Amino acid sequence: MIPLLDLHAHHAPRKEELMRAIEAVVDSGQFAGGPFVARFETAFAGYCGAREAIGLANGTDALFLALLAYGIGPGDEVITAPNSFFASAEAISLCGATPVFVDVCSDTATMDPALLEAAITPATRAIIPVHLWGQVADMDPILAIARARGLRVIEDACQAHGATYRGRGAGTLGDIGCFSFYPGKNLGAMGEAGAIVTDDAEAAARIRILRDHGQTKKYHHAWVGCNARMDGIQGAVLEVKLRGLDSGNEARRRCAAQYGEFLRTVEQVILPFEAPGRRHVYHIYSVLVDERDRVLDEMGRRGVGCGIHYPVPIHLQPAYRHLGYASGRFPVAERLALRCLSLPMYPELTSSQIEIVCQALKESLARVRPLAMVERT
Ligand SMILES: *Cc1c(COP(=O)(O)O)cnc(C)c1O
Repeated sequence: MIPLLDLHAHHAPRKEELMRAIEAVVDSGQFAGGPFVARFETAFAGYCGAREAIGLANGTDALFLALLAYGIGPGDEVITAPNSFFASAEAISLCGATPVFVDVCSDTATMDPALLEAAITPATRAIIPVHLWGQVADMDPILAIARARGLRVIEDACQAHGATYRGRGAGTLGDIGCFSFYPGKNLGAMGEAGAIVTDDAEAAARIRILRDHGQTKKYHHAWVGCNARMDGIQGAVLEVKLRGLDSGNEARRRCAAQYGEFLRTVEQVILPFEAPGRRHVYHIYSVLVDERDRVLDEMGRRGVGCGIHYPVPIHLQPAYRHLGYASGRFPVAERLALRCLSLPMYPELTSSQIEIVCQALKESLARVRPLAMVERT
């Protein structure tokens, strides 16, 4: 059995160090926010190359508070991609604004800058590009359009810790970068956590207040915020795990290269595309195949855990029926939802495991047509 993700393998070699870090928090009693979170914030800001990092309860709160910090609310529109985890759009709804979707490029599966202008209206306030699967969206044209129109750019970097775009780090390209440290992410907590990175000191100050019920001093509330502080234990764990992020990403890239060697000649499979100038960190290794659901079942029968990221595009979710999007509105995202298949990917995956996964995939694809042929029919 080869799982989609193996957190045990990831934690085993650092378990003692992690337990010591947790013990230090238990001994100090600093559980909600506090010095362990502050230390991680300094380390993570340094890692990303941002002026400030703010530790938060999860990635959804990071997106929500970024929007709130820029005063985005009812009557406003925010543009994002339809092929993401639901939270990219959910955060927009949580602050009272309306999500508007733009289709994605068929090669990178990230927001298509060529379609962006047409989605902008007088109500548009911000753009949330999603760095899907670990690859940064095509930020330069997105930023150029945003600057020309006076729009904020909030990066959903929840899958892209350590990814780069033309040498610049994910999360530092727009006004604010949002990260999740959900346990399965490239940098994962042992529980829920998230963060914002930014060079915008004013927005950072607002977010520090908003994450703490809008308190400017104890029991004095300037605004209605929420409880989105990071746990002390998560801060301590993340400070330890941050030191292994680069080597983990390198290992993921080696795994991706090995998958490429084994699968390059399999005509039923389209491999992930790493665009020039972008360093993909393969949070997810997603290939495209026809008859995806049948292939997924076959892989399961052969003992290989695969996933789908994501099976239902956000604009077609029941929760967004009221927005009135019909099927066929975002054809690239919808085609990806039908065909994407995530293969096992984590830094500890061995080359013999990768070979087994690829053999299982070839067998599972035995009666499946090549995608180019499907595209023509
Ligand atoms: C994980 C994720 C989120 C949400 O993060 P949580 O910490 O689970 O709230 C948002 N966007 C994307 C693209 C994600 O992958």
